[in-house]
Amino acid sequence: MKTIVEIGAGLAEKKTSAVEVATAALASAKEDTFSAFLAIDEAGAMAAAKASDERRARGAALGPLDGVPVALKDNILTEGVVTTAGSKMLADFTPPYDATVTARLKAAGAVIIGKTNLDEFGMGSSTVNSAFKPTKNPFDPSRTPGGSSGGSAAAVAAGIVGGALGTDTGGSIRQPASFTGLVGLKPTYGRVSRAGVIAYASSLDQVGPMAHTVEDAALLLEAIEGFDANDSTSSDAKKTVWRDALRSGVKGLRIGLPREYFVDGMDAEVDSSVRAAAKRLEALGASVVDISLPHTKYALATYYVIAPCEASSNLGRYDGVRYGHRAADAKALKELYEKSRSEGFGPEVKRRIMLGTFALSSGYYDAYYRKAQQVRTLITRDFEQAFQSVDIVLSATSPVLPWRLDEKLDDPLAMYLMDVLTLPCSLAGLPGLSMPSGVSASGLPIGVQLLGRRFDEATLLRTAFALEKH
Ligand code: GLN
Repeated sequence: MKTIVEIGAGLAEKKTSAVEVATAALASAKEDTFSAFLAIDEAGAMAAAKASDERRARGAALGPLDGVPVALKDNILTEGVVTTAGSKMLADFTPPYDATVTARLKAAGAVIIGKTNLDEFGMGSSTVNSAFKPTKNPFDPSRTPGGSSGGSAAAVAAGIVGGALGTDTGGSIRQPASFTGLVGLKPTYGRVSRAGVIAYASSLDQVGPMAHTVEDAALLLEAIEGFDANDSTSSDAKKTVWRDALRSGVKGLRIGLPREYFVDGMDAEVDSSVRAAAKRLEALGASVVDISLPHTKYALATYYVIAPCEASSNLGRYDGVRYGHRAADAKALKELYEKSRSEGFGPEVKRRIMLGTFALSSGYYDAYYRKAQQVRTLITRDFEQAFQSVDIVLSATSPVLPWRLDEKLDDPLAMYLMDVLTLPCSLAGLPGLSMPSGVSASGLPIGVQLLGRRFDEATLLRTAFALEKH
């Protein structure tokens, strides 16, 4: 299991070649012990690796990702490589262009090994909602790796690739990172372009890195962030060399522990892991205070109105005419829509479309969607208030340890409840990072979550770096 930095060092010192590294990655991706992959791009990866070796031989290596094998969640478009979003609706969809983040990784010399499994369209917290197969947790194959970016998490945790991209709408990078002992970063909304990322809930979706270390995550973020003319919500916030921001320590930083994040039903080992992380930060020179984010209890309901509303609108494009699966035997247009959508979408996606369509319908809009938007503002203000007295908010990422793959299957609400700690950050558009903070008695990873001010990934990363080194 090698980090991006270690792979990069091996390449720079010519101990190995990009072709050798890619060959090994492709072999274990094909074996796919944990069902992490939906597609493997052998030809593309080998060509990219060869090109990387040639550049390096000329003394023209591109930077820290040049020749490093990575994987992309399968809702991120890859030109010429099937991209399904984990849905039968897109089982045969081959994108004619790259997402901006794909193009940026390629431009940095990264070698894309393949596309990773996810809950259909990103809707879920377990990867069990994939239309194709569930992914297994490398720490215990009977358990979920989390979701929806569970394939990316498993591919990195199993050491198949150096790092991966996931997407996070309400926790889908952070929670699987927490369940597989990785660092996962959801950037500030707007930090990374969404162009070419299959939309789930557009006001929440962000792409971000999943990696073994904070430094690796920073390297991936550096490669993909920044303004993009093809995403009008992408920000021109200054690009930083994140790695340089890592090493300044946490002396004098103020860390807030929100009391609302120690929820009922929280696993005792998770609880004590968060408190231990706070103690470690204190020992490193930060100060830790209790804070309150009073509207936290509304975040779950707010998210599960707003996200399905946006999803019901975004998924309207899959009608069997313009996009996606087309039913074979429909006799009229309405029947074509109905059949194509009934056959193409899985049960959770249908549930979200129905919830969202209902909440947006006339007579209900004010009671649900408008109200949810108002509460979203209150949740955002909670954080603004808190960040006047603290620099970082610290909590658990998930209230529980990775559950068994056969649990919570017939209880969608139980699954939604698992997102309680990651949703508020998404609603507020803040950057959030999950990192390993310990291992349970049963050998399962435990993660903590750090939240920062808008566009203050620098403080987030340096705090995480200090905690990781401790
Ligand atoms: N579990 C949440 C949902 O189902 C978040 C998923 C995500 O971040 N893509 O909506």
